[in-house]
Amino acid sequence: MITPRLRGGHEVTQPVHVEGAEPGDGIAIRIRDITVTAIATASGHDTSPSGYCLGDPYVAARCPTCDEVWPETHLEGIGQNAVICNKCGNPVKPFEIVHGYTVVFDETRQVGVTVSKTAAEEIARNAHHYAALPDKSVQHPILVFAPADMPAVMVRMRPFLGQLGTMPSIAMPDSHNAGDFGAFLVGAPHAYGITAEQLAEHKTDGHMDIDAVRPGAILVAPVKVKGGGVYMGDMHAGQGDGEIAGHTMDVAGSVTLQVEVVKNYPIDGPVLFPLVEDLPPLAKPFTAEERARAERLAKSWGMETLEELAPISVIGTAANMNAAIENGLQRAAKLLGMSVPEVRNRATINGAIEIGRAPGVIQVTFLAPLSRLDAVGLGKFAREQYNL
Ligand SMILES: [Zn+2]
Repeated sequence: MITPRLRGGHEVTQPVHVEGAEPGDGIAIRIRDITVTAIATASGHDTSPSGYCLGDPYVAARCPTCDEVWPETHLEGIGQNAVICNKCGNPVKPFEIVHGYTVVFDETRQVGVTVSKTAAEEIARNAHHYAALPDKSVQHPILVFAPADMPAVMVRMRPFLGQLGTMPSIAMPDSHNAGDFGAFLVGAPHAYGITAEQLAEHKTDGHMDIDAVRPGAILVAPVKVKGGGVYMGDMHAGQGDGEIAGHTMDVAGSVTLQVEVVKNYPIDGPVLFPLVEDLPPLAKPFTAEERARAERLAKSWGMETLEELAPISVIGTAANMNAAIENGLQRAAKLLGMSVPEVRNRATINGAIEIGRAPGVIQVTFLAPLSRLDAVGLGKFAREQYNL
């Protein structure tokens, strides 16, 4: 976010070609491992000072002094004015932290604590060491800002990927590959401005910030280019639903994934099979005991069989929460061959709407008929994930 040459905010990996993946397919991604390597990170709630961007601080950072867009910069010292324009020598800060923290993690990467100003400044002076960024990373570590407005707070580490999926079918700033942030591209004054139709056609919703995208989960992403182009980034040490501060604890780390092509995937957005513990209470698979009780009840009312059900979480994204819910409901209806009112009923009595990120990433999570999942090639992932 504080590296003006980056055209999208984050650094993400180069896309990986998946043999056999064609537009219209899906790619199932099993998240085998996420290991955080960062020793410390900093974050906070931000503001975007005026003059430091061309329309959008995530996409087109600008030096207000020499007017260079995407200026090359270097670090001088520490603090919020440490990022300096190479051309004119003045600070460039598309983002400023209004309330922030520096957090250090324990050796086992299970807990962290926020530190004092003195400690934050010591860490800031050796930021590259504590950030442990990948060798080819070009970003300025956020640790140099040394925020410390909230010391001595304990945190849990619960790492996940803020970005995981397939590449869009046009060049698009990584942070805007979703319906909410993507809406800022519509009619934008910079080089990445597009129409609403182009956004819908080309985005893949890879930037979801859904905290259930963590080790053990299976994500199915839509394919919009030959080979899919699986990429990832924006690893978070942890985050509550909503990422309501606008930013969370971004960390460096390593990831192990296993991929598999799903032919003829019917929708244009991702589907998640979360860990059982991440499912809303009503969307958890029924136990054998519950099933036996329900079957006895059904029989007494003249029904010989009950539907086989499996959890699924369909992602919806749009400019705001209401529109994102509508998008998720429509995708679920299309995927499973049922009406939107039926999805509404099932998500009400056997599931929930969950928030990924404000302002507009949601999950429609519910128990769906396993036969419908089988019909679109997703039943096997539900069986594997939930021991059905
Ligand atoms: Zn400048």
